[in-house]
Amino acid sequence: MTSADTPSRRALLGALSLSLVPGAAGAAACGPDRLGTSRVLQVSTAGRLRVGRRSYPRTLPLAAGEVLLTFDDGPHPGTTEQILAALAMECVKATFFMIGRQATAYPALARRVLAEGHTVGHHSNTHPMTLAQLPQADAEADIEAGFAAVDQALYGRYTGRPRTPFFRYPGFGDSEPLNQGLAARRIGIFGADLWASDWNDMAPDAQLGLVMRRLRQTRGGILLFHDTRPQTAAMLPAFLEAMRQEGFRAVNIVPA
Ligand SMILES: [Zn+2]
Repeated sequence: MTSADTPSRRALLGALSLSLVPGAAGAAACGPDRLGTSRVLQVSTAGRLRVGRRSYPRTLPLAAGEVLLTFDDGPHPGTTEQILAALAMECVKATFFMIGRQATAYPALARRVLAEGHTVGHHSNTHPMTLAQLPQADAEADIEAGFAAVDQALYGRYTGRPRTPFFRYPGFGDSEPLNQGLAARRIGIFGADLWASDWNDMAPDAQLGLVMRRLRQTRGGILLFHDTRPQTAAMLPAFLEAMRQEGFRAVNIVPA
């Protein structure tokens, strides 16, 4: 045995590769009895990207059974940590569409979401319901303030364009002028293919049953949750287990 392949050196190399490829390492460390993240889709926003069949004609190129888990409106102390723990337990990466003022209020929690390997997109600064009903300049200013707040919290600076150019409208309330402004800046617009409808109060088991019924109908897709909702945080471990048992696969997205 040479010094090049001693156990300690192998352990060090292993640790290095784990830190360099968190998604792959997480799946390997998790083992076959966990859901894992089956693939990471690189999404180009160079064209006019608008995806999610609840709002738009197209969606992401997902295969049958593939599910993109998305969580809106955080970071939110209490529930976001629970959701991160459930995702980590199953080695699943997800996409969080954060509200700017939440990221400003809880920057350490925002950074933790990123540090755990999830993708962080944008969801306006103050969550107007809806942006389409505001004067356009006000709506644009709120969107822009949201980009700045989230990037400031995550990376310590905002360059004038969001590092991850993924945006979701509060309440899916878009307008054509706002869409065109985002497209001109190569910022992709994300709707959803199915909703958890977790804005409605229900018991965690009712929430679980509702989402699984919808997933079976759509055979996967972009799924909208809220990491602000206790019922969602409570049901997530059982939901991820149900996904695995029924053959659904978790995918995540990153900018191309
Ligand atoms: Zn929202």
